[in-house]
Amino acid sequence: MLKISPLFSGSKGNCTLIRSDRVNLLLDIGFTYRSVVEALAERGLEPSDIDAIVITHEHADHIAALPMWTRRTDTPVYAPQGIVDLIAQRAYSSEVTGIADDFRIGDVTVSRYECCHDSVCCFGYKFICGDSRFACVTDTGRVDGALADFLRDCNAVMLESNHDEAMLINGEYAYPLKRRILSPRGHLSNAQTAEVLRRLAHSSVRTVILAHLSEKNNMEELAFKAAVEACADCGLVEGRDIVIYVANQYENGFDVCLD
Ligand SMILES: [Zn+2]
Ligand SMILES: [Zn+2]
Repeated sequence: MLKISPLFSGSKGNCTLIRSDRVNLLLDIGFTYRSVVEALAERGLEPSDIDAIVITHEHADHIAALPMWTRRTDTPVYAPQGIVDLIAQRAYSSEVTGIADDFRIGDVTVSRYECCHDSVCCFGYKFICGDSRFACVTDTGRVDGALADFLRDCNAVMLESNHDEAMLINGEYAYPLKRRILSPRGHLSNAQTAEVLRRLAHSSVRTVILAHLSEKNNMEELAFKAAVEACADCGLVEGRDIVIYVANQYENGFDVCLD
């Protein structure tokens, strides 16, 4: 069993709670410490109940609360091998383990996908516990066969749907930032995420969580509509064949249970 709770998701901060029968994991801890603690408390958890924190990459929207958290707890931290020293500098009393290959935390096996992003190193992850398989890939700018292959055998995926291209291009961001976001080392647009979903149409994926939406360059309705239409192109009806959620920046999320 895996239970997925995207606590906070968006350009301002990211943190997802992943629970199995035996362990509670945080995937990234990039929001305020207090918000994360409150979101956990609503689910009956305290910081000491968290068995490990798994980090995707070193950008602030993924690690902002790590220093405060590790000042108060000694939760083990896992991070891509390429940034292990960087993360260790931010993790006061916690041991940081470098990830180079598949690893195991309690009853959960974790495998990695190498994202294409303008960080030192960025991984997406797949969490496997019994028949439950959940992958989260955000902060990547390229759609290719390797991404679809990584996601294909999952029951549920959390995928970045960062921006609507027209909103970004016509929006207020400075040109270099627009170019960065649109580049293959930036973030996935709604259209790119739709392309991933078309590639996954006849896979085992039945639940999709759209994540890491930009507050300035996207709207929940646009991201959802693009994903629903991509599924419809392949004969899948949202709510019947596949369920699509949109993770939120502030609302402290929802729970998706995979049996
Ligand atoms: Zn990033
Ligand atoms: Zn990010």
